[in-house]
Amino acid sequence: MCGKDNSIRVKEHMDFELFKHIIDDAKKSNINAFQLSYYGEPTLCPNLIEAINYIKEQIPNSFISMNTNGLILTPKLNKNLLNSHIDSIVISIEGNNKEEYEAIRVGSSWNILRKNISNLREMIDRGNYSTKIGIMGLNVDNVYIDQELYIDTWGEYSDTIFTRNSRQIEAKIEESIFHKLLPCRSLFGQMVIMTSGDVTQCGNDWEGKVSYGNVKDSTILELWNSPILQQLRWKHILGQKRKINYCDTCTYKADPFRKSNLTKRVS
Ligand code: SF4
Repeated sequence: MCGKDNSIRVKEHMDFELFKHIIDDAKKSNINAFQLSYYGEPTLCPNLIEAINYIKEQIPNSFISMNTNGLILTPKLNKNLLNSHIDSIVISIEGNNKEEYEAIRVGSSWNILRKNISNLREMIDRGNYSTKIGIMGLNVDNVYIDQELYIDTWGEYSDTIFTRNSRQIEAKIEESIFHKLLPCRSLFGQMVIMTSGDVTQCGNDWEGKVSYGNVKDSTILELWNSPILQQLRWKHILGQKRKINYCDTCTYKADPFRKSNLTKRVS
């Protein structure tokens, strides 16, 4: 379902000193948007709240988001997250109901998930926090999200609901002319920094095979303008992305015209 399932990359938390080094460097380059997850579960990170607090202290106008499976969003963690002023919490959910969800996420509990999300919503409303809840419905093999049912189930808790395809589904979608010719937006709008400090070309390279440097050796700005990355971007602009190692077999279909938001919160 997720690239991480078969990943051989070392599973570890980022050293907090390295994290601070990255944020200090980001501040110098006027970077203010951060997503604190990359094929891992951020709520398991012992420094999560400290990390959000550090960003908000250093870069008060920052936008911080994280993707989570929502399973350990306990009242205590929810309270700490809201008090840290995280801007967006996106919860990934597969399946349309308890049976489908628990069959896909073996060992997980639909009831606990619902309780956690409902508690988070209640705390936000009661405390008038600005944190937004996003619900991401993932289409997986043979289990597609029923959009109306999904809105009925999760609409009262979330600010935004959207759907995504799993990699297996993406791989089955026929590549359109847009997918073939348009440059992949991953190279132009985001930088992925792994726990080791290695920077990889995009969020789909979960093994970090195409690293073009490390934040311990170069600044974020140097890495962003590095010749390797510039060369990759030009190949994409020239319609040659299928000639690039790794992009050649990538199933990510970055359709710039895709509309995936289903609804806004109505209650
Ligand atoms: S085409 Fe795939 S591998 Fe290449 S940059 Fe885009 S997401 Fe990454």
